[in-house]
Amino acid sequence: MPSSSASAPASVRVPEGARWACHECGACCRLFQLGPVEPAIVEGLRARDVGAAWAPAAAGFVEARPTPEGTAWYLKKVDGACVFLQPDNRCAVHRLYGAEAKPAFCREFPFHLVEDDLGLALVARGECAGFFESSRTGAPMEDYAAEVLALPHPRGIPRFAPEKVTIVAGLEVERARWMELEAALLVKLNAGEGPSAQPEALVALSRTHLFSGCGVRGPAADPARLRGAIGALLQAIGMVLDHVLSTETGAPPAERRFTAELREALRRAESRLAAPLPPLDADAARHANLLLRSAILSKGFQSVGGVGPGLGLFLFNTRVAQLAAETNAEGVITPAAFSAIYAAFVRLTLNATLQRVLLSARPALVDGFVHAAG
Ligand code: SF4
Repeated sequence: MPSSSASAPASVRVPEGARWACHECGACCRLFQLGPVEPAIVEGLRARDVGAAWAPAAAGFVEARPTPEGTAWYLKKVDGACVFLQPDNRCAVHRLYGAEAKPAFCREFPFHLVEDDLGLALVARGECAGFFESSRTGAPMEDYAAEVLALPHPRGIPRFAPEKVTIVAGLEVERARWMELEAALLVKLNAGEGPSAQPEALVALSRTHLFSGCGVRGPAADPARLRGAIGALLQAIGMVLDHVLSTETGAPPAERRFTAELREALRRAESRLAAPLPPLDADAARHANLLLRSAILSKGFQSVGGVGPGLGLFLFNTRVAQLAAETNAEGVITPAAFSAIYAAFVRLTLNATLQRVLLSARPALVDGFVHAAG
């Protein structure tokens, strides 16, 4: 729950109806890239001799890694988990010295703040393993806005300021027009049948809205092209995971187990690709809808080079979960089954190698966007 009762600054937008609370599952302290850590935080913990207060850190708690911007500090892991993760899934640094002693990225997770022409937008990241549960029972997202805004932002708050926004290659809109299209799309996704629609229908609805807003019709949806695109993406990611699992990378056993479990999930997804797709139940569909609205509001699509590939990526991620999850006795996928695979798979694909694979597979992501059926 938010630690202050301060109300949200008026200009911070959140996905309508979104809620969140931390369930202290500790998933975000495991198997993530735990950095970069600000040098001042590293120096502060060294000055306090954190290794004397927390034995697992006695042999050091950070390691230097090369990044595109130079060398950066990352928290060390012990069998795949942050060196400071306690057995009760709480943070030893927080317990010993308070939140201010923690790196900024730890304090901000799972929130993501972005600035656009309408002000600030705040969402929770889909890779938070507790997001589904807390999206029903947590505090309203807007209650966290003042707190997240007050956190240190060592790299600044990301600003969405492209001159033009690419929908698909050859189709761009001025940023001001995108903001209008986005606002109308978010309302549309949250109205009528939207909240209980399946992910593919949500992507189809988004495409129709965006194409018609740009005055283009686009090709007719082709289910075979969509299946082919999903199959190609599954194969590409699967090949990388096979390579990782067959190579001695020195990765801790917990990371290898996590990768092996998701490789199995991808195999299940591939084997079920040609069968009728089991539907998400109403609650799981509502959660998928929230994930999509969050991705749009936070401009997550920019990381794959445009709205079309971004929505194609949402469709791919949800499709992996939909294909790999087991159905219940009624033949539908429950939110727990859906979100367990969805959050873990998104967490896995944050890895730099898989991000490169997804970027180079952009045509398949665009196919997912263009050929989703309503
Ligand atoms: S993954 Fe989400 S619910 Fe779990 S500890 Fe991290 S922030 Fe909390």
